[in-house]
Amino acid sequence: MFSCEVATLLMEHSVSIKMRTTILDTEGYRIQLPAGAVIFQEGEAGDRAYIVDSGEIGVSTRVNDRELQFAIAQHGDILGEMALIDHGVRTATATVLNDAELIVIPKDYIHRLVTTADPTVNLLMQIVMQRYREMKSHFDTISAGGSLDSIEVKPKLENSQLKAQTEMAMRRVTEEQRLRKALHNDELRLFYQPIIDLNNGAILGCEALIRWQDPERGLVPPIQFIALAEETGLIEPIGHWIFSEASQAVNKFNALAGKDDAFFISVNLSSRQIETDRQVEVLTDYLLDNDIELTNFKLEITETLLMSDPLRISQVLTEFKRFGCKIALDDFGTGYSSFSYLHRFPIDSIKIDRSFVSTMAENPTSKAIVRTLCTLAESLEMSTIAEGVEEEKDQTMLQAFNCNFGQGFYYSTPIPEDEFMALIQKQLSAA
Ligand code: C2E
Ligand code: CA
Ligand code: CA
Repeated sequence: MFSCEVATLLMEHSVSIKMRTTILDTEGYRIQLPAGAVIFQEGEAGDRAYIVDSGEIGVSTRVNDRELQFAIAQHGDILGEMALIDHGVRTATATVLNDAELIVIPKDYIHRLVTTADPTVNLLMQIVMQRYREMKSHFDTISAGGSLDSIEVKPKLENSQLKAQTEMAMRRVTEEQRLRKALHNDELRLFYQPIIDLNNGAILGCEALIRWQDPERGLVPPIQFIALAEETGLIEPIGHWIFSEASQAVNKFNALAGKDDAFFISVNLSSRQIETDRQVEVLTDYLLDNDIELTNFKLEITETLLMSDPLRISQVLTEFKRFGCKIALDDFGTGYSSFSYLHRFPIDSIKIDRSFVSTMAENPTSKAIVRTLCTLAESLEMSTIAEGVEEEKDQTMLQAFNCNFGQGFYYSTPIPEDEFMALIQKQLSAA
C-alpha cells in the first residue's frame, strides 16, 4: 500500500515536470546558474516558475531525512509551476546539476493567466493542486512513521475562495448547457427594430436584435447571454443562425413590398465571430453553402473590433463587401473615436451611440458631438444613423443636423417578425 502510494505520487510529479512547454521569453527573463545552485527549496513560498532552456536540474524531496531525487529536468521542462497556481509552498527542491539557463515566469504573469481563464478551467487547476497537496501531506505523514488512520479527514472545499470558484464554475457550466440547448431547441428569436429615413419618416430597414425565449425565464435580453456565447465560442453557431434567420426575414419583407431591395437588414457582428481567418472562412463558407446573399445586409461592427487589428479587419470587411453588403460602425463615439483612421476602412455608415442622442436635448456637449459626427460623416461620404431616438425633439434636432436615419423607441421598440411585417404593410397601404 505504502510503496504503491509513493509510486503514484512520484509518477504524478514526474509527469508534471516532464511536460514539454513552448512558452516564450516574452514576459519572463533568463537566468544562468552554475552547477550546485539551488533554484528553490521544498517548503519555501514560491513566487515564480522556470522553463529549462539548457543544462540539467535535479528535482528532489526529503523522505525520512534523506534527499530523494526523483526527476531530472532538461530543455523544455517546466519547474515550480504549482506554487504559482494556488499560492502554496514548494513541494520539492530544485538543484542545478549541470550549468543551466532558465526562463523565469513571474508570478503576476501566471496569476493573470489563471484569473482570466475560464472559471471551470481555473477551478480544475485549483482542485488538482489541492488533491496533489493532500496526497503529498498524507505521504509525508506515512513516511514520518504515522499511519493512515492518523490522517485527518477534512471536509471538501473548506476553502471559501475555492467554494466561490466552484459556484461560479457551476453557474457557468449550467448556463452554457442551457444556451447550447436553446440553440438546438429553437429558442432563439430575432426581433426587428425599424430604421427610419429622417427626410420623410419612411421605414428603410431594420436592425436584427437577438433574444432568447427561455421556457422558464421568458424573453431573455442579449446583454444576459451574448458575452457568454462569445466566451464559450457558441457565438459562432449562433452567428450562423442569425445570418440564416435575418436573410429569410429580409427576403420576406422585400417580397411583401414587391421589390428585391426595398429594405435592408442590419446584423451585429461580434469581434469573437471573426477573430481568426479560420472563423471568417467558416462563416463565408456557411453563407455560400446556404445561398445566403448579403446584398440587403448591413454588418454592424464596433470601433474596438476595427482597432484590434486594423489591417486584418480592413481585409476581412473588404471580403464581406464582396458579398454585396454594407458596413456600419456601431456605438460610434464610445470607443477610440479617433477620426483619422475612419477613411482606411470600407465603412458606409456610422451609428451615433444612443448615449449622445438621448441626452442631446438637455446636454450641450452631447448636442455638439452629434452635430460634429453628422458633419464628419457627410464629409467622408458616409451616412449617419442616430440610435436612441426617444422623443420628437430628438428627431427635430437630428433633421437640423442633416442626419440621414433614425432608430429608437420614438418609432418602435424591437418587435417580432409578424409585427414588423404589419408595420411594413401599414406603410405600403398609406403610400
Ligand atoms: P446595439 O447593437 O447597440 O443595439 C441597440 C440596442 O439599443 C438594442 O438593445 C435596442 O433595443 C436598444 N435601443 C434601441 N432604441 C433605443 C432607444 O430609443 N432607447 C433605448 N434606451 N434603447 C434603445 P438590445 O436589443 O437589448 O441589444 C443590446 C446589445 O446586445 C446590442 O447593442 C448588441 O451589442 C447586442 N446584440 C443584440 N443582438 C445581437 C446579435 O444578434 N448579435 C450580436 N453579436 N450582438 C447582439
Ligand atoms: Ca447594433
Ligand atoms: Ca449600437
